[in-house]
Amino acid sequence: MTIRTRFAPSPTGFIHLGNIRSALYPWAFARSQGGVFILRIEDTDVQRSTQEAVDVILDGMRWLGLDYDEGPYYQSQRTQRYREVLAQLCDAGHAYPCYMSQEELDALRERQSAAKCKPRYDGTWRPEPGKVLPPVPDGGQPVWRFRTPLDGTVVWEDKVKGRIEIANAELDDMVLARSDGTPTYNFCVVVDDMDMGITHVIRGEDHVNNTPRQIHLFHALGKEPPEYVHLPTVLNEQGDKMSKRNGAKAVTQYREEGYLADAVVNYLARLGWSHGNDEFFHRAQFLQWFGLDNLGKSPAQFDEAKLRWVNAQHLKAMGDEALAELVRSQLERRGVEGDERLPRICALFQDRCDTTVALADWAMRFYTEVSASAQELATHCTPSIAPALETLAQHLSQCAWDRTAIAAAVREVLAQHGLKMSQLAMPVRVLVVGTAHTPSLDAVLELVGREKVLARLRNRPQLALEC
Ligand code: GLU
Repeated sequence: MTIRTRFAPSPTGFIHLGNIRSALYPWAFARSQGGVFILRIEDTDVQRSTQEAVDVILDGMRWLGLDYDEGPYYQSQRTQRYREVLAQLCDAGHAYPCYMSQEELDALRERQSAAKCKPRYDGTWRPEPGKVLPPVPDGGQPVWRFRTPLDGTVVWEDKVKGRIEIANAELDDMVLARSDGTPTYNFCVVVDDMDMGITHVIRGEDHVNNTPRQIHLFHALGKEPPEYVHLPTVLNEQGDKMSKRNGAKAVTQYREEGYLADAVVNYLARLGWSHGNDEFFHRAQFLQWFGLDNLGKSPAQFDEAKLRWVNAQHLKAMGDEALAELVRSQLERRGVEGDERLPRICALFQDRCDTTVALADWAMRFYTEVSASAQELATHCTPSIAPALETLAQHLSQCAWDRTAIAAAVREVLAQHGLKMSQLAMPVRVLVVGTAHTPSLDAVLELVGREKVLARLRNRPQLALEC
């Protein structure tokens, strides 16, 4: 059997990390089993679906490398097919028209609540042998309801939650299509999962309540339902369900903030699945390890500090050239163009950065003017160091321009002026890159370039000039 999974987002809001985890697991399952992964956009809610939200889904999946083999299918383009299947269900006696008006339904609900009963459709229009149905109201447009079995139970072995059994008496006759003909969510999902040959439905646990209804529909259509895998909720840092309403960011926002796709995949993978205590791993390892057996049962909580840590690990492990490409686009966003020095700049700073934004902050010092804080200048660029700075500038204007020669020039100045390395290096860094703490001085100076180094060493702010 070929494994076929799907991700079926509704484009009614910007997809966030909690949502996209429901794409990662079915994707990983399909990829690790040589299966097929399908993208289906559930856009039947015309009022709330937007093209912008679809774009974020597509862009987010492309960014994270969650490639799909089929789709995107759009439910809005499958209306004809839903009509066909509805007709099939009606012909087979599994669906029936119901003319109960909204007012009647409301009145029924009120009576049920007053009697402390669970509000549910009472089956007025449900055909039964020997039952006389009420007369069809003039001009009435029916909704179409599913004829749910009255007795027995519906049972499934959820891969995460275990065996779930629901009494059919708990389920009323759900609406399959509204009076304007539009099909409902549960109905479309089943028609699609059936037509697309889905073998494993992997989705958030907020859909558990829909599953018994969907299983009934599968049976009515003469098909075996797929396996169901309901993933525990993703909570935000405050412990609430992650949602756009309480501040969850669109998934693509993380790219803008300097996170790496592989790191986000790694972090999300751990948000509800584990492989021993492994926290940092690459995509290929993840796909080798992934299986449905190690999915967690309890809600996972998002932790941005942890995501940053994972990002830093991936950033350190990344090749300079690839990293430079990402930093280049961060620089472009700031109107700065990187050049051929960028891979070396990345190599020099990647160990001390946890995002490409932080790396771009460093790179900026090589491409734009720098200005140290008054505090750093006052601490490090005291008047007494000015003569040594001038000697260094002289040496650096004549020496060969490579790390070895620059290091030799620095050593010579130290000897000449009787200084310790930090006494000279700190002020040089403050003047040349705007901060006292950087990687190896000679490497930094080499990358800044002779012209800029000399200009910055000589263009000392007032404080240092008054020596
Ligand atoms: N469209 C549904 C959602 O975005 C998912 C449906 C499903 O996975 O079955 O929550």
